[in-house]
Amino acid sequence: MVLQQLVNLRCPACAPAGGGALSEVAGDLACNDCGQTYPVVEGVPVMLTEATDHFGLLKEIANTRGSNGTSA
Ligand SMILES: [Zn+2]
Repeated sequence: MVLQQLVNLRCPACAPAGGGALSEVAGDLACNDCGQTYPVVEGVPVMLTEATDHFGLLKEIANTRGSNGTSA
């Protein structure tokens, strides 16, 4: 899966400094600068860091993936 919007996305932690280009890694996105990974859920990148994940969504995604045994 290649995200056509990938060229426009940047890591929110690194973008203010001018970096934060992302690469696709196993269907998810990873920052080329800090290494932070961002899950892609049903084609939608979840651009949250632990600091901005106020609703625990990242943990919920991780739990969902663990329970059904897929990495989608
Ligand atoms: Zn980054």
